[in-house]
Amino acid sequence: MAKATKATKHVYFFGGGKADGNETMKNLLGGKGANLAEMAGHPDLRLPVPPGFTITTEVCTYYYDNRRTYPKDLKAQVDAALARVEALTGKQFGDAKNPLLVSVRSGARRSMPGMMETVLNVGLTEKTIDGLIELTQTPRFAYDAYRRLIMMYSDVVMEKAAGIEPKGGKGIRKLLDERLAKLKESKGYQSDTELTTADLQGLVADFKQMVKDVLGKPFPDDAQAQLWGGIGAVFASWNGKRAVEYRRIEKIPDEWGTAVTVQSMVFGNMGEDSATGVAFTRNPGTGENKFYGEYLINAQGEDVVAGIRTPAPINEYSKNLKSKDLQTLEEAMPGLYKELDGFQKRLETHYRDMQDIEFTIEKGKLYMLQCRIGKRNGVAAVRMAVEMHKQKLIDANTAVMRVGPNQLVELLLPMLDPVAEKAAPVFASGLPAGPGGAVGRAVFTAEDAVAWAARGEKVILVREETSPEDVDGMHKSRAILTSKGGMTSHAALVARGWGKCCIVGCAEIEIGEDNQSFSAKKGVVVREGDWISLNGTNGHVYQGALPLVDIDLEHNQSYGALMKLVDKARQLGIRTNADTPKDAAKAVQFGAEGIGLFRTEHMFYGEGSDKPLFLLRKMIVSKTLAERRKALDELFPFVKNDIKATLEIMGKRPVTIRLLDPPLHEFVPHSEDKLQALADELGVPMDELRKRADGLRENNPMLGHRGVRLGVTYPEITEMQVRAILEAAGELIKEGKKAYPEIMIPVTCAQTELAHQKQLVDKVAKEVKAKLGVRVPFLYGTMIEIPRAALTAGKMAEAAEFFSFGTNDLTQMGFGFSRDDIGGFLPDYLTAKVLPADPFQTIDQEGIGELIKLGIERGRATRPQLKVGICGEHGGDAESVKFCHRVGMNYVSCSPFRVPIARLAAAQAAVESAAQKKPASKRK
Ligand code: PEP
Ligand code: MG
Repeated sequence: MAKATKATKHVYFFGGGKADGNETMKNLLGGKGANLAEMAGHPDLRLPVPPGFTITTEVCTYYYDNRRTYPKDLKAQVDAALARVEALTGKQFGDAKNPLLVSVRSGARRSMPGMMETVLNVGLTEKTIDGLIELTQTPRFAYDAYRRLIMMYSDVVMEKAAGIEPKGGKGIRKLLDERLAKLKESKGYQSDTELTTADLQGLVADFKQMVKDVLGKPFPDDAQAQLWGGIGAVFASWNGKRAVEYRRIEKIPDEWGTAVTVQSMVFGNMGEDSATGVAFTRNPGTGENKFYGEYLINAQGEDVVAGIRTPAPINEYSKNLKSKDLQTLEEAMPGLYKELDGFQKRLETHYRDMQDIEFTIEKGKLYMLQCRIGKRNGVAAVRMAVEMHKQKLIDANTAVMRVGPNQLVELLLPMLDPVAEKAAPVFASGLPAGPGGAVGRAVFTAEDAVAWAARGEKVILVREETSPEDVDGMHKSRAILTSKGGMTSHAALVARGWGKCCIVGCAEIEIGEDNQSFSAKKGVVVREGDWISLNGTNGHVYQGALPLVDIDLEHNQSYGALMKLVDKARQLGIRTNADTPKDAAKAVQFGAEGIGLFRTEHMFYGEGSDKPLFLLRKMIVSKTLAERRKALDELFPFVKNDIKATLEIMGKRPVTIRLLDPPLHEFVPHSEDKLQALADELGVPMDELRKRADGLRENNPMLGHRGVRLGVTYPEITEMQVRAILEAAGELIKEGKKAYPEIMIPVTCAQTELAHQKQLVDKVAKEVKAKLGVRVPFLYGTMIEIPRAALTAGKMAEAAEFFSFGTNDLTQMGFGFSRDDIGGFLPDYLTAKVLPADPFQTIDQEGIGELIKLGIERGRATRPQLKVGICGEHGGDAESVKFCHRVGMNYVSCSPFRVPIARLAAAQAAVESAAQKKPASKRK
């Protein structure tokens, strides 16, 4: 924490073409404060921003470190900044005649939409209300502003920040809302706009009384008290339940804290010449380079986001199914639209990225209230990065850094099978807020979504609209469907940020009173637990579970263009873990440059494995060398053909083939009839066979007779496999094709094991050469998956020409955590922050990472050209890939589906380290 001394600047002013801060100061001023300063003060911009000031995140830290108190000189600095705001606006805070009203808003380094608190219209009191009426000549507006203040302030400051638990679960906001609804009902009003001045005046009085009755304290009738109450509530909201939950999901550190921005109010609800809106400099759903947004005439900012009224499109391009008949801003206020369009262009050029803009028009004057880097889904992120690069707005490295590895996942997301979709009747339609397809069972509360998902159910959360309280449930759902709200509603923003399938504003559905069902057209009802399917790309909802299919990447031009930049930037090679020709072909399509792990044992599982498995079993339970050799001879053609098929697909690309890894007992049949068949084949009685099988049983098979240990006990198993690999390759070469096998010995811990197996390999290689008359180029190497192997890597490299880090086992053996049983206690470790993340998903750089570094260093000290890769699950985890780049690996290997992510992560790692050192040449 920065020490709060007298010299510390706590408050940064902006307005009138000047600003103390700028865009680079997000850590101190929060994203909102920094961008307001930039918009207001940067010579290229100097946009019409209502003046205000930002209290730094350091004050938030101080507040929590010092029992919720402030640095001594904060008050004086706030007063001074407020005086500057007063001077610019010509109004005075708390003044009876010419009152200044302010908003008090949160703003962390990274945007946390809706997770923290905001209070608007601060400064309205019994004393200032008349001044406001006088100033605006609209008493109705003034009382409306007053009742909004009471609703927000009592909720945010007097209840939530004060830590008051609402009685019977009904908070003050809800009670006041009900009071408002009751009044509307009694008068027969449909909308808030029908409330008269007298209605609102009466409401203000009622509200105040209710606040006093419910919360036991009068509503503060003093502008300064309101201001400081608001500031404290924003700081307190940093540790509110939903903000903490959101930080956990988004991995935002608790220490960051929030800034508080106090800004003079402008009003979009001062009549038909006033409006408010939200816009994006490009379409955040598709990435298309078109100005896109929504607005409402005579409304306050939260009305657009809350989804209470259907927002109108700002221009023709922004029209959607629901808003197609509404008047655009461009039509309603052409001059102001033109001005706004000019501002958005300047903002995007200045920031060189898509901006999310909030604006307000007060009595015909346009104000810019906020700008920030706009959230976008993966599809849009890729398109924008590529198009901005083409426009020369950003360079290639920036384009590569613009797409998060997780956003790329969205491009690989499944979609509803187009054929099935065409045949299915559309149940309802809404706005396509988050693309991709999703299938799940309908649930109606966030709590249910969490509970059902915990049971392993696929759920789709169906709500009228979502609120920040729902984030956990939204996160756990496959998709979100809301009956209200627009493209900038809470559900849409949050889902877009996560790249989740989402449909909003689906007005055709009506959620039942019991909140356990919804109905659409002709009264058809979907009940809790019923399957539904969503197409978030076109906004269609279907009954039942439609099949999902993978997306077609080959025809996505933006993806192709991005990956070209990615491949240029990266130095790491990217391989795949694949055991079948089908997976191998898919991985090549995704950009794999080789196979980093071909698990030979795969051929004994699943489809088509009956015969080879039977022969393997026969080999396993053989008693004599002769019996075993016979079984191995029978198995040989199966193994050779299996390997040959994959080598053929991979052609010139290297294929690392691992010799048999699992303990043999894993393959012994459990069922009586299978055992009987084996007994018959071998011509031994069942008792004898059972004895043999039992003899293979181990207490701790993971640390037992597996991997290279099998090859030491039964050299003939190694020989058979090596022969299969080399003959397969040799035959391909003779057919004029290419094959580059790499023979990999698993579960080694000593150089002597490698030397032992090497003799067998060399012997077989000679024999194959003699038999086929061709020399098969191959490499000999090992997995490094036991800590001792990493520590003795210098010696291991005497025989091994390559290392592949098996980080699944290396993590298991390095931590002493069973990879099969960690699920039992990992959640406790994560909750208690004993571990920062699951070490089986992302490399533990501090411990396991050290073993890897040491292994590489020692290995290369012996053999400078040692090829090093990784084939544990971590090879497809973006953070781990970046680590692999930094420690100088040649390649990473991951499942086919994760190949594009690994390519991108590798490129980003290269760009990041290029900033520190000169780029190295391409690794293979
Ligand atoms: C590993 O241990 O990291 C590895 C790739 O091997 P397996 O998962 O097959 O044990
Ligand atoms: Mg392993």
